[in-house]
Amino acid sequence: MTVRIGQGWDRHRLKTGRPCVLGGVLFPDCPVGPLGHSDGDAVCHAVIDAVLGAAGLGDIGGMFPDTDQAFAGADSMDLLRRAWAAVAEAGWRLGNLDVLVVCERPLVGPRAEAMARNLAAALGAGADAVNIKGTRGEGLGPEGRGECVTAQAVCLLEEA
Ligand code: MG
Repeated sequence: MTVRIGQGWDRHRLKTGRPCVLGGVLFPDCPVGPLGHSDGDAVCHAVIDAVLGAAGLGDIGGMFPDTDQAFAGADSMDLLRRAWAAVAEAGWRLGNLDVLVVCERPLVGPRAEAMARNLAAALGAGADAVNIKGTRGEGLGPEGRGECVTAQAVCLLEEA
């Protein structure tokens, strides 16, 4: 069986008063949220780059240019479903996906399972194929100062 690995990384500035949506899950009590041309969902963006990379289909900027007003305020889960449609069309299914989210706020752990279920559904996989981890910057760097959220994704695709 042919397998391919892909990685993705994304970072968005956190701004007071922005809705905080990561992995398509709202963190209603979080006073800051990611700033972006779309909804700023750094988790979805990292996952899009991972699956596109594994399939050899380029990257998120090529598929959804941030110069295109069509993607202003876009729902990143919708972008993920569209990216995945191209990957599946190219003959791949998800083996597994592992995502690391680095931020001071929100606290990822309590909603990690909900994020995994969302992402798995968008990727046509069972929730056990997706793992979400949260960690903090311990006061160091922009994540540690609470200025941004950074997401890193690694996926394995299998020949469908
Ligand atoms: Mg992004």
